[in-house]
Amino acid sequence: MVESRSMVLQPEGTGFDPSEETRLVEFAGDLMESADVPAVANAIAATARTLPGCREALVLWSLNWPGERQSAPQLALSSERLALADAAFAADDGRAASGQALALTLHREDDGAGAVLLCRLDRGVDASQAEQHWRAVTRLARLRMAAVLEVARLHDSVERMEQAEKLQRALFAIADMAGSELDMADMLRGLHRIVGGLMYAENFFIALYDRSRDALRFIYYVDTADPDAIDPDTWFTMAQFERTLSWYLIRDGRPLMGPTHALRKQVSGKLRIHGPDSPDWLGVPMLRGSEVRGALVVQTYVDNVRFSAADQALLSFVGSHICTALERKQGQEELERRVAQRTRELADTVRVLNAEVDERQRGERLQAALFRIAELSSSDDSMDVFYRSVHSIVGSLIVARNFYIALLSDDGTHLHFPYHVDEVEAAPVSRPLGRGVTEYLLRLAKPLLASAADLARLHEAGEYDNAGTYSESWLGVPLTAGDRVLGAIVVQSYSADVRYGWREQELLTFVSHQIANSLQRRNAAQALRDAYASLEQRVADRTAELREQIAVREKIEQRLKHEVMHDSLTQLPNRGYLRDRLERVMARARRSAQPTFAVLYCDVDRFKIINDSLGHLAGDEVLKEVARRLSSCVREPDVVARLGGDEFAILIEDVGSAEVPIRIAQRIIDVIAMPMQALGKEIQTSTSVGVAMGDRRHHSADDVLRDADAAMYRAKKAGRHRFEIFDEALNQQVMDVLELESELRHALAHGEFAPYFQPIVRLADQRVVGYEALLRWLHPRRGVLAPGDFIRVAEDNGSIEAIDWQLFELACRTADAVGGEHYVTLNVSPLHFRQPDLDQRLLAMISRSGIDPRRVRIELTEGTLLDKPQQVSDVLECLRVAGVLAAIDDFGTGFSSLSYIHRFPLQMLKIDRSFVSELGTAREAGSTAVIRAILTLAHSLGMEVIAEGIETEQQRDALLALGCDHGQGFLLGRPQPI
Ligand code: C2E
Repeated sequence: MVESRSMVLQPEGTGFDPSEETRLVEFAGDLMESADVPAVANAIAATARTLPGCREALVLWSLNWPGERQSAPQLALSSERLALADAAFAADDGRAASGQALALTLHREDDGAGAVLLCRLDRGVDASQAEQHWRAVTRLARLRMAAVLEVARLHDSVERMEQAEKLQRALFAIADMAGSELDMADMLRGLHRIVGGLMYAENFFIALYDRSRDALRFIYYVDTADPDAIDPDTWFTMAQFERTLSWYLIRDGRPLMGPTHALRKQVSGKLRIHGPDSPDWLGVPMLRGSEVRGALVVQTYVDNVRFSAADQALLSFVGSHICTALERKQGQEELERRVAQRTRELADTVRVLNAEVDERQRGERLQAALFRIAELSSSDDSMDVFYRSVHSIVGSLIVARNFYIALLSDDGTHLHFPYHVDEVEAAPVSRPLGRGVTEYLLRLAKPLLASAADLARLHEAGEYDNAGTYSESWLGVPLTAGDRVLGAIVVQSYSADVRYGWREQELLTFVSHQIANSLQRRNAAQALRDAYASLEQRVADRTAELREQIAVREKIEQRLKHEVMHDSLTQLPNRGYLRDRLERVMARARRSAQPTFAVLYCDVDRFKIINDSLGHLAGDEVLKEVARRLSSCVREPDVVARLGGDEFAILIEDVGSAEVPIRIAQRIIDVIAMPMQALGKEIQTSTSVGVAMGDRRHHSADDVLRDADAAMYRAKKAGRHRFEIFDEALNQQVMDVLELESELRHALAHGEFAPYFQPIVRLADQRVVGYEALLRWLHPRRGVLAPGDFIRVAEDNGSIEAIDWQLFELACRTADAVGGEHYVTLNVSPLHFRQPDLDQRLLAMISRSGIDPRRVRIELTEGTLLDKPQQVSDVLECLRVAGVLAAIDDFGTGFSSLSYIHRFPLQMLKIDRSFVSELGTAREAGSTAVIRAILTLAHSLGMEVIAEGIETEQQRDALLALGCDHGQGFLLGRPQPI
């Protein structure tokens, strides 16, 4: 064989070689028997090796040169040989030679399908010669290779198309799954199935990479050799997988494939095997653009299963789609998750809103209930109605079939149950505070929500004595006001269907405050009502009392009024009443043409004598009888009034003419003249009557009374027991009086009054001991006027008081200016004694004038002592203490007895001139007896006696002889100015 190989190759066509022929036939036969490219390649390679000059031969082929080249026989080819094959494949003539190597293109298609015969020639053999020599073989080889390559190419195309179709289906399936309803786990299982359909993928995992966290999550992991499942939701940091295959896939972003030793070469650094070692491993990164989003890995633990580059390409291709599908699914899931979350959030919101709505509705219900309770508190309903209404309101808020209100008594010792509704228990009666559950609640002073078991426990713990049926649910709230527990409000349920909770507790607590407030308000209102009622009662009582008092007062007032308007002795109207009535009658009369009324002024003649001689009681009886008789002389509406003392007046209305009053006056005179009984004694008296007809001249009641008085005065003057009618002459007198009054006013204002002093002499030695200050009016026209000329008018119009005070002051001042030891006596009118402060005023005046009070004495008439005797006595006593002594003047003219005078602090007695003037006359005897009696008694009482009006020496001597100490009279000295 070596020789044959080294034989010199014969050029083609230079001669026939039978072995060559045989070889060609056999070769053709082999080629025909070879149905596919490897077989044909083997046949070509085997025949080529038999060709002269060929030491070695092999055939390289590929359907897409220079990729996926295969060789027959299968040898590992050096790069030089492959380069030579490539050069031949690329050359136009389809041949390439290098040294002893020759490459001949057997077939070449544009799409890369082709085959190259690669031969190593024997040493010394020329490549061109050998090629020439092998031409018949290579022609056959080319023909057959073209045919089988074409078939192979077609098979390859079919396979590729099938693969492409499979891949297409797989991608569709992946895309479908991404949009399917499948959940992620099912989808991952589906992806696994799809990948398994494309390649061996019994062990398969998908890892997702999160760049932001630099972490891995093995969302799908199936490994027959690794029983430990990996939680698909756990993110592992890349550091945990550092330098593992997965780590390299992510970090380098390149596929890795092969057994472990091959993989070690493929990675960029050290490799750490994680998990069981596998004979073959294929991992591809899942890319989104250039960014690694995860990895797909398949691995085998079976020796006869190996992954190919096609698998790798396929997995890479599928990987990107899986990545898309996963992201889509994840996006979808995320969307769904978000939708679900949003839905949950919305549901939560709806729940919250519903809760709020519920709460608000509950609040509104509560508000309405509270409003109703508040309304109740101010209503006037009874407490029973109030409690019933409260129950109804509470019942509208919670189940309150069993409901009661307990209240502590004001002193806190008893428990009352003003309201109690219960399906089981009878209404409890009021009781002293004991050991009931209500008492426990009150002790607790806070809400108690208890189940039957709770109640039993409390009972066992001795918190209360159970006296009834355990309720299934018991809710009690104390009614409190500030820190004070007023009572409790309780609802309870005997049914397991109704149980109270915090909501009911809260609500009842809320309501309890309102009820407590309402109770308090109601109690306060009740207390107020009670207070009002009590007040009203008190007011009514007081009113009744006051009414009684008013009635009493009215009676008193009426009595007082009567007393004020009537005379207490005779019960006749008094001066005030008469004046009032007279004014009204006058007012009426002014409207008529004719005078229609008359006034009769009556004075009991010599009444003083009756009074003084028979005593006041008899005098009073006389006056009462006179009143009766006067009243009998007139009829309604005539008025009989007592003006004072023994003076009466009668108002006669509707008189028409003077005849009527005249007749009446006459009747009066006749009636009064009739004898009358007084204290068992028969008395006969008379009356003087003055008649004044109502006239337009009269402006006031006083005018009429004045006229009637003037007429009466004239009747007196004319001899008494008669009547006089006021006429023109009297009118003139009145006018004179009026003029006098005017002059008096003028005199007062111009100091026309002056004191004249008349000496009071000690009769024994004619020595002057004092002076009586006598009033004189230094009238500018009429000269010096004595009191008799004006004093009555002054007394009537009241000016006498002012005149007196003026005179008293002048008298005291003058007397003091004169000096000496003499005293000065002042005549004090009875009018002054009506003033209770007369003593003080006199003393003040004396003090002002500078005179020693002991040098001042006062004279008062008997009449003064009769009116207000105690007041007079007090004044005299006060003056006496101050040194001012008092004298009773004109003694004997009145009817007062010495025993009466004795009651007053009087130090002097002046015997009236009328007794003195009779001395030395025929009537001397009587006067002497009286003077002697007066002197005896006066001396026995320690009183100084002064005889007045001594005009003759005879009188003086007689008085001396009678033992009279002092005297006064023209004989001893006339009144003279200082
Ligand atoms: P009376 O107090 O009895 O005064 C004595 C009166 O007798 C005085 O009259 C006096 O002048 C008068 N008289 C004195 N001696 C004789 C006499 O020998 N013969 C006669 N015929 N008369 C004598 P008068 O001054 O005219 O006073 C009259 C009355 O007027 C007094 O009586 C007295 O009651 C009153 N009177 C005098 N002065 C005042 C006075 O200042 N105030 C008051 N209220 N009344 C006075």
